Amino acid sequence: MADPIPATAAPLDAASARKVYVETYGCQMNVADTEVVTAILTRAGYGCVGTPEEADVILINTCAVREKAEERVIGRAAQLSGLRAHKPDLTIGILGCMAQHLAASLPKRAPFVDLVMGPDSYQRLPDILAQTSNEALLDVRLSRVENYVGIDGVRKSGTNAWVTIIRGCDKFCTFCIVPYVRGRERSLDPSEMLRQVTQSASEGFKEVTLLGQTVNSYRFLQTDFADLLRAVAAVDGIERVRFTSPYPKDFTDRAIEAIADLPEVCPALHLPVQSGSETQLERMQRGYSVTEYRDLVARLRTAVPDLSLSTDIIVGFCGESDQDFRRTLELMEEMRFDSAYMFKYSERSGTAAHRKLADDVPEELKRERLREIIDLQEQISLEVNQQWLGKSVQILVEGNSKRKTEEGSPNRFGRSAHGKVVVFPEQAEANSMRSVLVDRATSHTLYGSAADA
Ligand code: SF4
Repeated sequence: MADPIPATAAPLDAASARKVYVETYGCQMNVADTEVVTAILTRAGYGCVGTPEEADVILINTCAVREKAEERVIGRAAQLSGLRAHKPDLTIGILGCMAQHLAASLPKRAPFVDLVMGPDSYQRLPDILAQTSNEALLDVRLSRVENYVGIDGVRKSGTNAWVTIIRGCDKFCTFCIVPYVRGRERSLDPSEMLRQVTQSASEGFKEVTLLGQTVNSYRFLQTDFADLLRAVAAVDGIERVRFTSPYPKDFTDRAIEAIADLPEVCPALHLPVQSGSETQLERMQRGYSVTEYRDLVARLRTAVPDLSLSTDIIVGFCGESDQDFRRTLELMEEMRFDSAYMFKYSERSGTAAHRKLADDVPEELKRERLREIIDLQEQISLEVNQQWLGKSVQILVEGNSKRKTEEGSPNRFGRSAHGKVVVFPEQAEANSMRSVLVDRATSHTLYGSAADA
């Protein structure tokens, strides 16, 4: 599980306001949800603070994708409950996917938690926080319509605005808990989506990332994902449009055309494949074959020849033979992904795989296979990144890099349209565009100097 993402901090409206601290775990959808929670509570008169010690209400926005994450979140909540020694009225809540998944057992497992709310319940947060009870308050109703219309997330200043355009998932891949904890797929009204994008552009954001568990499955009446891309790209002030994560089976030719046509849409795609074995894809019920995935990538690369492509891969899923695993290695060699999120399978209670398939690949073998694909991907990423040597890339500056220059002054970093992290020594304002000449490449980062300094 990743480290928690620092809390979103908004200015305090009044010194007397109850103060809330939100800690976020998991994916970008959770980051965007935290921005929505912050907006709802700010509207209700709460002030948002940057540390748990300052807070009257601590909310942990959680992820349910991995079992380990649950233990960690419960441990973190227990640790935070120690603050009650100085603040007996402190309220601690668990929000999000894990709250939804463990609603029945959480009050017993974590008796120090006052509030358990699923991802469709945030509009009711102010009311629930106003209630008093000796028992944990639970609200985990899933909704078929909740899209948080009219709520502009309280965003940290930065370069990228997340806009959730589709919530939930209808795919039910056998390994995945998401459809059970985030409910059915529903798309945001395009006029509301445009309002949110226009608002973020007026706040100075130059880049927008459209979010959804299967973002390209978007459909609202006659509007499909391709229409949406064209509409977002036309918003004044938006220079870069990204989206994550598309579902391979739902990619249309119209969407590919839009990506190719629109200079604002970045030539960088995260296209989860999960396995290179037809048998494994069937067991996962991914809804596409390796051949179809290969064909889709070929169509994308024909339309956008310099496309940067990343993916997700799971090794050690139920029944994975050595031959299945070799197929994944072969596909990686063939596709030459720019990067990949790679995992070894860990069973999640409540999923179809947990109910119907044996988790029969020994742990040690899962670890070995993971090591092998990581090593292969590192090599491929390095080779792909070395192709940028000597080239000038346009980056959107994000801020100071963790690595300093040899003289000890901070390096700056930003991201290229292809999604590469680029580090360079010259001073440059955050949220400005800069041209950088690449002179060094590792598997994860490009380095260079400002070509326009
Ligand atoms: S598409 Fe599959 S893996 Fe992705 S969220 Fe939906 S069920 Fe999970």
